[in-house]
Amino acid sequence: MKKQAILFFICVVCFVAIIFLVSQDDPAPTGDIVSNTATPTPEATATPTGSPTNIATATPTPDADPLKAERDAMLTKLNKMLAQYMYDEVLAEIDANPQLANDETATLAQQATDLKSKLVKYDGKLYHIFFHSLIVYPELAFDHDGDHATYYDYMVTVEEFNRILPLLYEGGFVLFDYDYIVSFDENGKATYLDIYLPEGKKPLIVSFDDTNYYEYMKGDGFAECLAINEKGDLVNKLVTPEGNVEYSYEADGMPILNTFVDQHPDFSYKGAKGIVALTGYEGAFGYDYTEMSGAEKEAAIAECKRIADKFKEDGWKLACHSYSHRVAFTTETITTQQVIDDTNQWLNEVGAIIGDTNLYITPFGCYFTDARRQAWVDRGFKIIMPVYYIQDYYSGSEFMIHNRCNIDGITLVKHPERLAEFFDASLVVDEKRP
Ligand SMILES: [Zn+2]
Repeated sequence: MKKQAILFFICVVCFVAIIFLVSQDDPAPTGDIVSNTATPTPEATATPTGSPTNIATATPTPDADPLKAERDAMLTKLNKMLAQYMYDEVLAEIDANPQLANDETATLAQQATDLKSKLVKYDGKLYHIFFHSLIVYPELAFDHDGDHATYYDYMVTVEEFNRILPLLYEGGFVLFDYDYIVSFDENGKATYLDIYLPEGKKPLIVSFDDTNYYEYMKGDGFAECLAINEKGDLVNKLVTPEGNVEYSYEADGMPILNTFVDQHPDFSYKGAKGIVALTGYEGAFGYDYTEMSGAEKEAAIAECKRIADKFKEDGWKLACHSYSHRVAFTTETITTQQVIDDTNQWLNEVGAIIGDTNLYITPFGCYFTDARRQAWVDRGFKIIMPVYYIQDYYSGSEFMIHNRCNIDGITLVKHPERLAEFFDASLVVDEKRP
């Protein structure tokens, strides 16, 4: 009995060994035999020819939400809109996407409704401040050469600008746009709009004059020009004191303000940023195409168009700052015909690149009440912005005048009291000012 059992066992072992050897020689036809005699792993029988892709589609998770990515993208966008006071727009977007509705969109809709009900009609001051190009390297600007005093009086440093933004933000100011103040119909008639803001918020328009990066400023510690980097963001080309070329987000007011609003979306009303004002006699944005010809000129103009489009996409407006910025504007000796010619030349050269605008920021902050002002209005410039630190405005039936307060060395150092409604200037002044 025991011997028979042993012999039977040996036979079985031999049989299995033979089968194994045959299967090694010719795997294809013996597949059935192997699967019948051995105990294959469950994975092997479940997916005999399965690729990883087939496994994934064959076993979906029961609670996967095919709309999750789309909803997450909408929620991110809606949260930013909510922060930027776009309550009606948030509600409209949720209504337009019923397929994405869930508890989170319901909560957002409730928040938008609650916040909208708390808005109050604003009847306070319309604030407007302006800057010139920022000084990146004070040691180069304040080097006691011929332009030292100009820079000292009319410019602020990057450090000062970086100190100002949080003070304005904490002070309740919100970046605003004339689109929410006045509209003009097809006949040019003005309608002044009611402004609704959360209690304590104040509308602030910010402008940047002479964003031309003039030749006289080269080598004096300013950016060279504006540019768009490989990520598609607005930056400045900068040459360091060591002579290295950099593309920087921190070399002028516009890219710095873009970053600040990214970090503090509620500093901007409906995405508004500011106004960028251009003359024309040395081109635009640091590209002096007036000195170029042929393909080089075409390329410079194309780059200016890209930069103008990028500004508009980012919530900025562009303005005329005269073509020539000639001294006769400030001595008031300029004639009406000269104003007409100057404005037409700007429209033909700069206007043709940046597109339509109804904003005119006057050179030297000059202010006319005669035919010279009418020359601007007749050419589509409906909002005219001189300089006077009180920032009063005139709401005409065909145009609006709004004075702007200069933020520069004159106000920061010599007349800090003029800035008291915005911030304490003593917290701002750069220690690198001599
Ligand atoms: Zn100017």
